[in-house]
Amino acid sequence: MSQTFEFKTEVRKLLHIITHSLYTNREIFLRELVSNASDALDKLRFAQAKGESVNAPELELGIDIRINKDAKTITIRDTGIGMTRDEMVDNLGTIARSGSERFLKELAEKNEDPGNIIGRFGVGFYSVFMVADSVTVASQSAKLGEQPCVWKSDGLGSFEILPSGEDAPARGTVVTINVKEDAVEFLEKFRLQSVLKKHSSFIPFAIHLEGERV
Ligand code: ADP
Ligand code: MG
Repeated sequence: MSQTFEFKTEVRKLLHIITHSLYTNREIFLRELVSNASDALDKLRFAQAKGESVNAPELELGIDIRINKDAKTITIRDTGIGMTRDEMVDNLGTIARSGSERFLKELAEKNEDPGNIIGRFGVGFYSVFMVADSVTVASQSAKLGEQPCVWKSDGLGSFEILPSGEDAPARGTVVTINVKEDAVEFLEKFRLQSVLKKHSSFIPFAIHLEGERV
């Protein structure tokens, strides 16, 4: 069954700014999503090092990025720690993060480009709405016994949580971006490749773009 949640007030304000401004630096959405994927892989590695049992232990640790030009989507898949349903609700919209308030304050005071500063405030995930009409996050927690779930939002006032279908990841998270009409440049492989080389070259896990090691 699907359930709808309102974004926390500060998150809603932040999203309003992100979806209504002009940016010079939208490409950083990819750095933020790759950095989240890398953090999730780090956590998985740590859990395994502590001897915890995880789902799909045979899965390699890595990040896989795909483009679908017909569907106008980009997907970023990681085999990391994943999120439970409650973790998705908390982490992607309802828990107040001190960073969102500080981000709003700095934007108001310094007239900065949101794309240039968002990464510094621990709210990087939301930068995806600079290039997305809507976003789907499907996740399977590494924790045994947890069911996969889907988070879905157009970045306006609310998000939805749904049970996952058959295409759920075995472990980890798949972020699917429905790319905005004015951001179709990011459906080009060479464009994403250069963004990855520029911003994600020190990620300590293998990144594949369209099946090719970056
Ligand atoms: P930060 O990474 O600084 O905590 P973000 O806005 O980028 O802030 O991400 C918010 C939170 O959402 C993360 O702290 C993490 O708990 C969760 N999250 C985001 N992406 C993933 C992912 N790929 N795998 C697991 N958890 C994730
Ligand atoms: Mg982050």
